[in-house]
Amino acid sequence: MTYRAPVAEMAFTLRHVAGLDRAIAEGLHGDLSDELVDTILEEAGRFANDVVAPLNTIGDRHGTPLKDGVVTMPPGYREAYRAWTEGGWNALPGPVEYGGQGLPVLLNAACIEMWNSAAMAFGLGPLLTAGGVEALSRHGSEELRARYLEKLVSGEWTATMNLTEPQAGSDLSVMRTRAEPAGDGSYRISGEKIYITWGEHDLTDNIVHLVLARLPDAPPGTRGISLFLVPKVLPDGTRNALKCAGIEHKLGIHGSPTCTMVYDGATGWLVGEPNRGLACMFTMMNNARLGVGLQGVAIAERAYQQALSYARDRRQGRASAASEGASPIIEHPDVQRMLLTMKALTGASRGICYLTAEAIDRAHRAPDEAGRKAAQGCASLLTPVAKAFSTDIGIEVASLGIQVHGGMGFVEETGAAQHLRDARIAAIYEGTNGIQAIDLVTRKLPLEDGAVVRGQIGAMRLVVERVLKEGGPAFGHTAPRLRETVESLDRATSYLLKALGSNRPEEALAGATPYLRLFGLAQGGVCLAQGALAANAAVKGGDTDPAHPARIALARFFAENLATAARGLEETVTGGGGFLQDGVLALAG
Ligand SMILES: Cc1cc2nc3c(=O)[nH]c(=O)nc-3n(C[C@H](O)[C@H](O)[C@H](O)COP(=O)(O)OP(=O)(O)OC[C@H]3O[C@@H](n4cnc5c(N)ncnc54)[C@H](O)[C@@H]3O)c2cc1C
Repeated sequence: MTYRAPVAEMAFTLRHVAGLDRAIAEGLHGDLSDELVDTILEEAGRFANDVVAPLNTIGDRHGTPLKDGVVTMPPGYREAYRAWTEGGWNALPGPVEYGGQGLPVLLNAACIEMWNSAAMAFGLGPLLTAGGVEALSRHGSEELRARYLEKLVSGEWTATMNLTEPQAGSDLSVMRTRAEPAGDGSYRISGEKIYITWGEHDLTDNIVHLVLARLPDAPPGTRGISLFLVPKVLPDGTRNALKCAGIEHKLGIHGSPTCTMVYDGATGWLVGEPNRGLACMFTMMNNARLGVGLQGVAIAERAYQQALSYARDRRQGRASAASEGASPIIEHPDVQRMLLTMKALTGASRGICYLTAEAIDRAHRAPDEAGRKAAQGCASLLTPVAKAFSTDIGIEVASLGIQVHGGMGFVEETGAAQHLRDARIAAIYEGTNGIQAIDLVTRKLPLEDGAVVRGQIGAMRLVVERVLKEGGPAFGHTAPRLRETVESLDRATSYLLKALGSNRPEEALAGATPYLRLFGLAQGGVCLAQGALAANAAVKGGDTDPAHPARIALARFFAENLATAARGLEETVTGGGGFLQDGVLALAG
């Protein structure tokens, strides 16, 4: 079973959960119309279904062999990438002055989901190029922007992000790559970077590497790191002194080359201020982390579609005494529970990611300073949740997808196993999920003395109150369960803020991962409830689309069956730090 982009569901989430309708009505996106949004989503869906999705298994089986410094991409990738860039998809969110279409991050989020559902290894490369465009647009000199941006915006060239070194992963302060001034405004870059995504490939004539390195007089630690642009092919057409020295053999995303890059006095140019490289990288982190969160949603969606289709066909056992012969497994309550869990978690994480994208747009486009500042706070708060919750969901849903298939899920034939193998990396790269949870708790909760997180919890409460008032019998116990979830989040937040304020950071660190999960459950449940309220209003208005009752039932399932984990998570956050004393003893045994 191949992939079909759920365009109607995406459009509904964009409009009624993330707030695209409101943003368009407020004039935030210029003359972007509802019709244009629909046309773009339809066209992207067609391209993802027909051109990209068939590459998924091919990429997994062929991999990206390296021979004599040349990486060969899987069959069909080159043609698909060319058609994709010629279709203007790479340029969708790019800056207008460099040939981009300047469309909302939110609309592009739905497209990113489609490319990555269709083939995550294919969708990953352009995420890195988008990061390069952002870094250069914001921090590059006029000369660098003029030389590189247009080709990166169109996708004629791709970009990479070179942070990781063997001894420097989560902790970049111990990075060693060096940059020596050459005396002519350029620098000579030397060192080894590992795990560089799309570091070498044969899809484009040039690859623009953004490399973190240290200047000779740089202070130690993260304050001494600078960012450099180091192209594979120099402006005079000669090859730069860099090469791909190896390709990783890995669990998943086989169609994405993960390269060891060696820079041997390669020519590069400084991007931004000396010693401010990490700050330059961090300005683009919200977008890049959201992109990886969307990969989690994407894999979950594809795994769900495949499991649903299998469960309708596969017959085993009799679902009831009245069944004649073997029933399709979808009729068994336990299989229904798995499929509903998959669909509800996918919808919840999609809601969180799209909401984060809307906040990123608003942080740039709101007409007033106060509106931009509030949106920036919201984007900063939600980004680690979007990244870590959604990528954890991607793994869980892909794993459930295998379970629905039984033994057929474990063998490679159906493709269900590939989803789990591909999903696994998204919880690791772009800052591990543990690092995201630490970021949420230690940097984002204290924003404006806790006012940002309190504001977000307040917004969640408003939705719960609306469900209480407007939701009819079809909503069941949605409102009370969600209210308990949001109140658990509120209490856990108070506990963590207090621990941070009382100089007990280790307690906050110990509770960070369960707290992030709790946040995701509350925000995800609220997103689904908001969609259910819009669906309810549509039904009351006479709309007979069967998707509307399904949305209400899904929000109810989430609140009554999944959000109920909140209480346990709250207790883990507020009492779990105890393991710092006793539990650690268990590791010694
Ligand atoms: C397929 C793939 C593609 C990649 N693409 C790129 C790329 O394009 N560019 C690039 O620069 N890098 C890339 N990476 C590297 C990736 O970002 C790192 O692997 C990741 O940041 C984790 O670093 P590490 O592997 O050194 O793990 P470590 O930092 O050693 O972490 C190991 C474990 O310890 C935990 N941990 C570490 N420090 C702390 C702490 N302070 N507190 C709590 N827990 C901690 C982590 O959460 C993790 O669970 C890629 C990696 C892979 C596998």
